[in-house]
This record gives sequence, structure tokens and C-alpha cells, in this order.
Amino acid sequence: MQALSSEQLDHLVALRHALHQSPEVSGEEAQTAERIVAELTKLGADRLWRGLGGHGVAAEFSGREEGPTVLLRCELDGLPIREISDLPYKSTIPGKGHLCGHDGHMVSMLGVATRLTTRPQKGRVILLFQPAEETGAGAQAVIDDPRWPEIRPDFSFAYHNVPGRPLGEVGLRKGPGNCASRGMQILLEGKSSHAAAPEDGVSPGPAMAALMAGLPELSCGTIGDEAFSLATLTHAHLGEPTFGIAPADGELRVTLRSMTNERMDALMQEALHRVEKHALGLSVDILWHDVFRAVVNDVEATSIARTAAGALGQRCREMPTPMRWSEDFGRFGDDGAKAALLYLGAGENHPQLHNPDYDFPDALVPVAVDLFCQIVQDMLGSEAQ
Ligand SMILES: [Zn+2]
Ligand SMILES: [Zn+2]
Repeated sequence: MQALSSEQLDHLVALRHALHQSPEVSGEEAQTAERIVAELTKLGADRLWRGLGGHGVAAEFSGREEGPTVLLRCELDGLPIREISDLPYKSTIPGKGHLCGHDGHMVSMLGVATRLTTRPQKGRVILLFQPAEETGAGAQAVIDDPRWPEIRPDFSFAYHNVPGRPLGEVGLRKGPGNCASRGMQILLEGKSSHAAAPEDGVSPGPAMAALMAGLPELSCGTIGDEAFSLATLTHAHLGEPTFGIAPADGELRVTLRSMTNERMDALMQEALHRVEKHALGLSVDILWHDVFRAVVNDVEATSIARTAAGALGQRCREMPTPMRWSEDFGRFGDDGAKAALLYLGAGENHPQLHNPDYDFPDALVPVAVDLFCQIVQDMLGSEAQ
């Protein structure tokens, strides 16, 4: 596989800026998917799937000989956050921005597609442009698509850029790599009454006060501990903004986070138990949202990535602890693939993910392209050899 020419790299960076200007949030990535399909068609993919689990797109590049399927995944979605920057290519969509770097992840995979004009010798490469990562719904939706059996990989790789680490550093972490997390919406309903006679009603107020203090107490340990858990209160609402009514309804939102899926199951039970204890006399409805399973990186897949980074002379770091933030990439491991998420440094003084002034560093594109092409070369060989 030939290295990217400077014209090809310029094209990818220009495309990244165009994607950056027109971010689409989870589940609404129709235009982004169109652009990706146009690029993949130009590059002559052997097979294309569209509309996977929503707006997902996958492209196959196949070798002549039998061999494993290696899937490389990136994400299509931006965020419902207003971008604050002076960039010439800043978001033109009010209240939406590519502030997690998925625009950069996408063009990295298009860079791999560019180099795959030289096909692998055996097996096949699937490039997956996954929808709805930010809500935790997209990976599972792709896996639930009836066409997934045509794609199902033996190995899956992806990367996320990591602000705060040196640009281009390859972070590796076998075992738990990203936390499990989920949103817990607690709806409490009692009975309204005149503010002059609160005893005639049932207010959710006392239960809410107890839970606002009590649920965050379920947090324990640090990210270095297997038992790490974190419960963060994110929203509270009680009754209406009046003075005449003792309230009937209340709502709390709490985000639960843990290093392992097992710990998450226990944390959910503890949280439910607290709600039960404090919500006596109220009717309670619990809804779960944004469910992310933990990313658990496969040992063999991680070691393949380590070898590839080593062959390129890229600087590697064995990460001592997992990332606190969640990633729905864990679903591909749950589905049976040997999966590894790689953590590529985005620069030490770079704004953090989801900050309003975050922007993906273009200098990371060739680093990522080289790394994933080396993984493909090591696993599947190259037609030209
Ligand atoms: Zn994000
Ligand atoms: Zn992201």
C-alpha cells in the first residue's frame, strides 16, 4: 500500500473541514452519510452497505484469498453543542458542532480507503461509518441490522483522539478501556394540593431532597479501582414555578458510571434500592437512557495494534487506567469480534472533547491512516507483495 500523497492528504483535510462545517447529531446523519458514500464510490469499494442501523455506511475492500474480516470503525455524528471558535470552517449549523473529532475519525478511515486501492492479499477490510455514537445507540443498531451477518468481523479496531496526550502518541489498554455508563431518569408522582394545606397532598419534595443527596453517595473509589463507581446528578425538577400549589410531580436525572459491566449491574441495584427507600407513598417510574457498555479491549487485538505502531516507530503508551468517558465501541467486542479501541494523543494543550472550542487536529490524520494501514498489512498482507 502506497503512502498518501500530499494531494490526497490535502483532499482529506479539506473534506474534514467541510464535514466540520455541517455537523449532524446522532440519528440525523443523512447528509454526512451521503458525502461518505460519494467518497467511497469514487475510491471504488468492492461493496457498499447504506442505511445500516440508521444512517450507517460500510464499505468492503476484499483480497483474493480467504482470510479474516477486519473491521475499522469511525463515527458519523456531531454534538448538540454550540461551537465557539474563529475557525474559517466553524460550524454553520446553530447549536451543533463536531466537538468530539468524529470528523477527523471519518477522514482517517477515508485515508485508509484511499490506500486500499492496493487490496489486501487475503480476507477483507470493512470500513464502518457508524451512526449515533454519542447517544450509545448506534453500534447496537448496526449490529441489529438484518444485513450485519454479511459484515460481521473477526477483528474490530477503532480509535478515539485524546486531548491532553502528546500528538500522535498511541495509547493502548488491554482489558477495560472505557467505562460503562447509563442515564437514570427518575419520575416521581404524588398528589398536588393547595399550598395552604400541603398535608392534603403528597409532595415528591422530601424524596427528591433525600435522593439528590443520597444518590451521589453511591460514588466510590477512583478510576484505578475495579469497584470504581460514580453517580452524578445532572438534572432536577419539582412541580411548577408557582406559590399556590404544593407539587405533585418531580424528576431527577442521574448518570451512573463504572469500570465494569458487572459493577454497573450492582450500581443500578443500589440506586433502585435508594429510590424505593425514599419514595414511599409516591408512584415511581424509572427510565434508562444512553446505555453504554464498558469497552473491554481484547488482548490479541491490542497486541496487533502495538506491533503495528512499533513497526512504524510510533510512540506507544500502555495506559495505567481506563478512560472515564464511555464509547459504544464495546458492543463489537460483546458481539464476538476481537476488538480494540486505540487512544491517539491529540496534543497536550488541546481543548478537551465536547469543549465548545475543541477542534480535531489535522496532523493526526496521517498518523491514524498509517497505523490502521499497518494493522491491515500485518494481518491481511498486500496484493502488491
Ligand atoms: Zn463525544
Ligand atoms: Zn467521540
